[in-house]
Amino acid sequence: DLRRQRMQRNIILRHRVVKFIRDFLDERGFVEIETPILIKSTPEGARDYLVPSRVNPGRFYALPQSPQQLKQLLMIAGFEKYFQIARCFRDEDLRGDRQPEHTQLDIEMSFVEQDDVLNLVEDCFTALVQAVTPHKRIVVPFPRLTYEEAIARYGTDKPDLRFGLELMDLSDIVARSGFKVFSDTIASGGVVRGVVAPGCAGYSRRQLDELIELAQRQGARGLVTLAVMEEGIKSSIARHLTEGEISAMVERAGARVGDLLLVVADQPSVAARTLDALRRELGRRLGLIEPDLLAFVWVVDFPLFKWDEELQRWDAEHHPFTMPKEDDLPLLESDPGAVRANCYDLVCNGYELASGSIRIHRRDLQEKVFALLGYSPEETRARFGHMLEAFEYGTPPHGGIAPGIDRLVMLLADEPNIREVMAFPKTQSAVDLMTGAPSPVTEEQLAELHLKLIES
Ligand code: ASP
Repeated sequence: DLRRQRMQRNIILRHRVVKFIRDFLDERGFVEIETPILIKSTPEGARDYLVPSRVNPGRFYALPQSPQQLKQLLMIAGFEKYFQIARCFRDEDLRGDRQPEHTQLDIEMSFVEQDDVLNLVEDCFTALVQAVTPHKRIVVPFPRLTYEEAIARYGTDKPDLRFGLELMDLSDIVARSGFKVFSDTIASGGVVRGVVAPGCAGYSRRQLDELIELAQRQGARGLVTLAVMEEGIKSSIARHLTEGEISAMVERAGARVGDLLLVVADQPSVAARTLDALRRELGRRLGLIEPDLLAFVWVVDFPLFKWDEELQRWDAEHHPFTMPKEDDLPLLESDPGAVRANCYDLVCNGYELASGSIRIHRRDLQEKVFALLGYSPEETRARFGHMLEAFEYGTPPHGGIAPGIDRLVMLLADEPNIREVMAFPKTQSAVDLMTGAPSPVTEEQLAELHLKLIES
């Protein structure tokens, strides 16, 4: 595989990308520091890969999900500008843009605010694209969307901005409609939202069914379609709505003669997910995607927490070290779900390329966040005592970010999968087919590690 021209080209491009980044950051006074791989659990929302210790029976290292805590400790140690081309390990279900181990450009800076971090990465990536893939087009400055705007306009916090097709909220128009599917959905906390498929009014039954199936695969109960024809609206639900309702919806959505309006009535998260999927499908189908465009966009002002339905508790949207917005601090106890965070994602062509934040640098606030996440004081001390103690020694305000190198090179190389830009990647089931890893070990090795296998 690696002998093929495509892989040779990709692996060499990857080398050039990393070399460019190293030189760029070096020129700006950043120091590259290696941090250990055998370490303690650093949560980023995945399971840990564990390594049993032979010399400490019954104890385990965790491979870092990221060097998050270590880079923060480096700030406390006085290294004001740190970076590392860092390997991170996350045991989670794999997809095309995920592998058990990935490489990220890990960055941390002291005495900075959000704009300092965003500007650094924007300058670096702009110069990088010009240097290594000059045929690619980028738009600078990178646009910025708040999390709320991203969800409202695109249904996702990873919007693909290579094309328009923005979503529209139609809830207020049909809230009191005689059409129960709409009005009941809204009465029960749902929304009615739509997107326009330009020039698709003439879609056949089969083409419409395909879109309906796509909507249902996202969990939507259904999909309403309204074709805007010269002679009027063609829709199976037209007779349930008043003319005023229909024309207001068409006008709000900006649909013109020849267009097809797709409408989803559902709970907000289902409607957002479904319309995001429909929007991306339409972008592809209708050929709206400019091949060499890299549409970078910053998404900012994420919520600090998300509610975990399964565990019935708050979880960190990003990771537990993210600083809440100053203005929202009073809400921490009264309304945790409404607290926004000083954190940001860099998105490109619909992929999350980087996540970062300004960090908590005060012990009391960090302890409060751990408590809200459901850690007992004992657990907090056992898992994060080293961080909390370090905060006592004078901690500069700091923040950082970590762009994924694999995804970045994938986009620069026009590849559909990060496997194509990695030497020796693993399969979807986390197997290395060439060496056969993971593989069984001998009884002696297990005994040395004080381990016994249990039959599942
Ligand atoms: N540790 C974070 C991550 O791996 C990045 C950051 O917050 O700097 O996603």
